[in-house]
Amino acid sequence: MADIDRILIVGGGIAGLTVAAALQQKGFAAELVEREQTWPTGGAGIAVQPNGMRVLNALGTGAAVERAGAVIRQWGFCDQQGEVLCETDLQALWGSDAPFIGIERSKLHRALVAGAASTSHRLGTSLVSLSQESRRVTVGFSDGSTGEYDLLIGADGISSTVRKLALSQASPDYLGAMNWRSIAPIRPGGLTALRFILGDHCFFGLCPVGEGRTYGFGYVMQPRFYDPVKGRLERLRERFAAFGGVVQEYLTSLGCDDEVICSAIERIDVDEWHSGRIVLIGDAAHASSPLMGQGGCMAMEDAFVLAETLRAATTPEAALNEYVIRRKPRVSWVQQQSLATGEALGLPPAIRNAALRERGERMMESRFRPLASCDRI
Ligand SMILES: Cc1cc2nc3c(=O)[nH]c(=O)nc-3n(C[C@H](O)[C@H](O)[C@H](O)COP(=O)(O)OP(=O)(O)OC[C@H]3O[C@@H](n4cnc5c(N)ncnc54)[C@H](O)[C@@H]3O)c2cc1C
Repeated sequence: MADIDRILIVGGGIAGLTVAAALQQKGFAAELVEREQTWPTGGAGIAVQPNGMRVLNALGTGAAVERAGAVIRQWGFCDQQGEVLCETDLQALWGSDAPFIGIERSKLHRALVAGAASTSHRLGTSLVSLSQESRRVTVGFSDGSTGEYDLLIGADGISSTVRKLALSQASPDYLGAMNWRSIAPIRPGGLTALRFILGDHCFFGLCPVGEGRTYGFGYVMQPRFYDPVKGRLERLRERFAAFGGVVQEYLTSLGCDDEVICSAIERIDVDEWHSGRIVLIGDAAHASSPLMGQGGCMAMEDAFVLAETLRAATTPEAALNEYVIRRKPRVSWVQQQSLATGEALGLPPAIRNAALRERGERMMESRFRPLASCDRI
């Protein structure tokens, strides 16, 4: 076990809370700071795929997430009018040891916070400065306090301050697409599967979540722009007006502009994930486009592997090297496949749809099998 007494986790998102729970389990004490005054819950919904659920099950949080979400057994691609082009049986692809879950982000977060309950935390506190000597990291916080740590974990998301201060000045790249996310109080068309309804340079995703509700996400390939909250819902309805009945039913059931979150799709790619006693996990290290639906699951895997390597290695340096060696191949696969999916989405609809009809199931199989079939993450 690496000899470290004081660990600071920066960020209380999926990565930060999961690493807090994983470190607890491996016998380490850590502190966590989160810059928001309350636990962040934005983003509407999320798919926690079986690789993410395997981590949560190992940490004892999986059952709560499963209860609060919806088990999804199939996903499929449809043309703009809703005709199915191909379908994937998720249990056949991933195996039956962990389910594929659709869940509201607020509920996932609640379960992750409960799982990290023994880790001391400070909300409304940002990391604002850091310096590193050979075996110690000294940090400054937004409330004027300072602290000294044996290890600093940057779980502070795509615009990571830890990354900027310690590892790289690189900024996120815009990937040429905007997205609109929301939760509707219905299951349009009696939806039970995850559906991607494909248009021309755009798609609408529908994912069942718990309590008969549905997470919807519109994705449009276009230059970046600011979509003001006022009038956002009406503009979203107009953007997807040519889509078939199930999307219309979903959009009609939304009540007001505030229910729709709009954001730009970005990614970050940095070579180094650690320096001395500072290490990045989750989006801080490798945010990618969401087209594999794997960013949060990769963050969970990072967290678990980091705790495991710290437990197994005799020095923190050896643990951080091992963490990077284990994580980079899987994360790179997800990044590459997300980009490839984005390119395929931009093909003329007739060509893309014909390819999905003919070999969509095989394409999904080859995209996800390397993640699904691996015993060791
Ligand atoms: C449209 C979209 C759909 C997606 N769908 C899926 C999906 O279905 N499945 C999936 O697995 N993934 C999905 N993802 C990806 C997933 O949302 C992210 O990969 C995941 O949320 C990353 O978690 P994180 O904890 O690394 O970062 P974040 O969620 O960004 O958390 C970082 C936290 O750090 C805090 N913070 C930042 N700076 C500081 C500071 N200086 N001091 C203290 N705190 C700080 C922030 O407030 C935040 O709470 C999707 C992403 C997008 C954009």
